[in-house]
Amino acid sequence: MVSTESARKIITLRTPLRYLKGVGPERYRVLMKLGLYVLADAFYFFPRRYEDRAPIKTVSELGDGEKQCVEGVVAGLGLIRIRNGRSIFRVVLSDGKGVLFALWFNQPYLAKVFMPKSRVIFYGKAERQGRHLQMVHPEYEMVPEGEGPKERIHSGRIAPIYPLTQELHQKSIRQLLFHIVREQSFLLADFLPAGLRKRQGLADTLFAFREIHFPGDFSRLERAYERLVFDEFFLMQTAVQMKKKEMETRNEALSHKGGKEEIGRWIGGLEFSLTAGQRQAIQDILSDMKRDRPMNRLVQGDVGSGKTVVAAAALFFTAANSFQGALMAPTEVLAQQHYFNLCELLEPFGITCGYLAQSLSEDKREEALQGIAEGRIQVVVGTHALIQERVRFARLGLAVVDEQHKFGVFQRANLKEKMAGSAHFLLLTATPIPRTLAMTLYGDLDISTIAERPKDRRPVRTFWVGEDRRTEVYALLDKLLAEGRQAYVLCPLVQAQSAERKAQSVEAEASLKSVAAVHRELSEIFAHRKVGILHGRMKADEKKKVMQDFKERRIELLVSTVVIEVGIDVPNAVMMIVENAERFGLAQLHQLRGRVGRGSEESFCVLFSESSSPETVERLSAFEETESGFEIAEKDLGLRGGGDILGERQHGLPKLRIGDLVKDMAILERAKDEAKRVVGEDPKLGRPEHRLLKRALVERFQVSSEKLTALA
Ligand code: ADP
Ligand code: MG
Repeated sequence: MVSTESARKIITLRTPLRYLKGVGPERYRVLMKLGLYVLADAFYFFPRRYEDRAPIKTVSELGDGEKQCVEGVVAGLGLIRIRNGRSIFRVVLSDGKGVLFALWFNQPYLAKVFMPKSRVIFYGKAERQGRHLQMVHPEYEMVPEGEGPKERIHSGRIAPIYPLTQELHQKSIRQLLFHIVREQSFLLADFLPAGLRKRQGLADTLFAFREIHFPGDFSRLERAYERLVFDEFFLMQTAVQMKKKEMETRNEALSHKGGKEEIGRWIGGLEFSLTAGQRQAIQDILSDMKRDRPMNRLVQGDVGSGKTVVAAAALFFTAANSFQGALMAPTEVLAQQHYFNLCELLEPFGITCGYLAQSLSEDKREEALQGIAEGRIQVVVGTHALIQERVRFARLGLAVVDEQHKFGVFQRANLKEKMAGSAHFLLLTATPIPRTLAMTLYGDLDISTIAERPKDRRPVRTFWVGEDRRTEVYALLDKLLAEGRQAYVLCPLVQAQSAERKAQSVEAEASLKSVAAVHRELSEIFAHRKVGILHGRMKADEKKKVMQDFKERRIELLVSTVVIEVGIDVPNAVMMIVENAERFGLAQLHQLRGRVGRGSEESFCVLFSESSSPETVERLSAFEETESGFEIAEKDLGLRGGGDILGERQHGLPKLRIGDLVKDMAILERAKDEAKRVVGEDPKLGRPEHRLLKRALVERFQVSSEKLTALA
């Protein structure tokens, strides 16, 4: 296996594949394209699927049509050259009772590969040609004299099929891996503590790698898969749990000791009674805040589940304990709305609220900054402006981030550090994500989930329609507006594309509705109504005015881009029309639909899309069928695959190599429990039995501490 020139080199998992026998510079170049640089990469290059080539048939047993293995002796062979350098190569295989013809077109070199009388296995589709059977371009494997079935790489066994590019043949990668697995597996250390492995009844590392590449049978393959998936999830969960532990530093000065009666009075004064989920979330938060270490909690709840009031309760509680509170929203439109609501909820209790955003005039900003620094402003609401250098709090007790998914996971560590420092930290997210994903992405957080929406809500009636229904839809819209209701029309683009891009993709973009064009059109059709427009390129104060006008019904129909997507709360709006709905992801559509159905009136969501691509059809029909954010998230995960979503959201965290967040949920749960246990007993993994685990973690997350903080 080791080439002569490097025979003296000691092979390790970090040894470049280049130094293995049979890997020349050309092959190495192709391997690198597949992400295979060093020996370890090869072990982790898992098959995409397997073919059961174990049964070996005699010629007479071969059926028509399906791929199968047949073994025999080369009874005859011949190369026929035709014109223009083309050729047919033919092998006659005999198993003593019957014969089979194998044919290859234009592969004359095969004449040198097959020797008369040699033993060979073919794998391919057998077809009847007149009186005899033939296989065209079967895969072949020589059976050397006296070699047992164990030595077979490609046939007579369950064969791994690797994810490959055109440049590399299955046979050659399979061969390479066969030798690596057979000869170098001893290098793989088992990083699971023996007790854990036993408790979980998991296979050992050697077995796992051997069987995942070259399974002895399907039940061994299953055990190998279980072990490797467990490893992958376990490492990730261990990293997450370590991060979590690390954040739990004690700080007596943070403890919120008072405010119990006040918060009771405040809740009693709300104009509605809280749902059970809201109540529980508030209780979780208050008990976190009473402790002397920083809260790090995520409140997860579907659109419209009423997360704002939960945040308000926490902010009230911090103010009642003479701390300051801050709430950050991803857009100015939303920040503005929160400010407005919080003033209403908190000022009657003598709590002073402030607002901070980029759009403030210089004077106003100075004033706000000073108010924050001096502690006069007790609760401040704002945008990213809140995490800028110049913001200094007198005594920050709680930082809240609304719609945290908008900020991305990678920024979370940053957010916490910049915004909360060592204060209590609360995140709100409206994107309900499947449990498995939550455990991976948010494993280091405590989570409160608000499962139900306030009772008086009615389901939003959802329709996916084509152009032929437009008149009907407008008639319904007109009727609703006449009843004093309001509506949104959502478009994917701000303006017609620039001339240059337009030229490139005229057809694709031609049917896209631009917000300006739709606004013009609807202003004519609904000339008797007040039609407004809102998009990302407007100035902040223009946007603010439009939202205010919509809120106060000076605008009845609002044509908008996705600026509207997050958090906007206008209960009188009962219809959401989405143009070019195929352009939006499932989660985004769900957010959009969440803008309506906020009051007690019947609400509608209409998706216009002419697209007939199977993917769109599946997405939009799924969306029509369910209103549950969790179901939609599961569906989304199923459609796009766990790896994708994770990769995208994680921003730089390693992608899953083998585990599947949908399929392997049970293993993930087990891995999480064990990770918790290990980190609970040995937070810094200093014990000897955790030495290999620690090393595996550093290797897996490469730049250890840097990447590990990304999980926070
Ligand atoms: P989201 O979870 O999407 O942020 P909001 O906090 O914006 O939801 O709440 C949506 C609407 O529901 C708001 O108008 C809010 O006042 C109202 N609301 C919140 N909680 C309740 C409740 N328990 N009963 C009735 N209405 C509620
Ligand atoms: Mg909200």
